[in-house]
Amino acid sequence: MTVTAQAIPMLSDNYSWLLSESVTGKIAIVDPAEAAPAIAAIEAAGGRLDFIFITHHHDDHIGGVAALVARYTPIVVGNAADAHRLPKLDIAVHEGALVDFGAVKVRVIDTPGHTIGHVSYFIADGGVLLPGDTLFSLGCGRLFEGTAQDMFRSIQKFSDLPDETLVCAGHEYTASNAKFARAIDPDNAALEARSTEISALRQANKPTLPVTLGAERCCNPFVRAADADEFGRLRAAKDNF
Ligand code: ZN
Ligand code: FE
Repeated sequence: MTVTAQAIPMLSDNYSWLLSESVTGKIAIVDPAEAAPAIAAIEAAGGRLDFIFITHHHDDHIGGVAALVARYTPIVVGNAADAHRLPKLDIAVHEGALVDFGAVKVRVIDTPGHTIGHVSYFIADGGVLLPGDTLFSLGCGRLFEGTAQDMFRSIQKFSDLPDETLVCAGHEYTASNAKFARAIDPDNAALEARSTEISALRQANKPTLPVTLGAERCCNPFVRAADADEFGRLRAAKDNF
């Protein structure tokens, strides 16, 4: 593995992700909601920041960008289509773009649904997926701008990625997502086992992320939905759960 990902808790339930590329030592941060915890993590990792990757324009994903740019002058990467509502981008990307991050490539996956301009990032070398607010453990993002069809298609785009891919999502919503997932899918033994693990992790104040895509394929009702209609019904039911 040449890229490792570390969760940095921010605000009440956000995770920003610190990515370390082991060949060149480059460091990136994904969706820094606030500056202070980001700076603490960056300083602990050696005091450099080469890149900021942004998944979408919500404040709880970009709030720390300006202060980090002023302090470290990293290269800021985000969706070209959303440049008008993102911090100033140095690399404005589209679906399928490959961004050089030290010795590895970061692939851009267009994932509209939570917002229209939402993108996810995948690093094959290290098997790291950064889905922002598209996919959570046992859940998915709310549909603020896109349709159920958009979000279903976006999550389907992850279906070619390997089972061992590490899902590094934007929020610690797993325990509440587990309640809904168990109500929908009460006879799923893998989901019961994951729920027990989640309770233990949260009691120990530990993140439930990253989780593997393989585990989500077994347990996450939104990943398991057969089509956009079923997905839309689940999303509506979760909104009122
Ligand atoms: Zn969001
Ligand atoms: Fe968010």
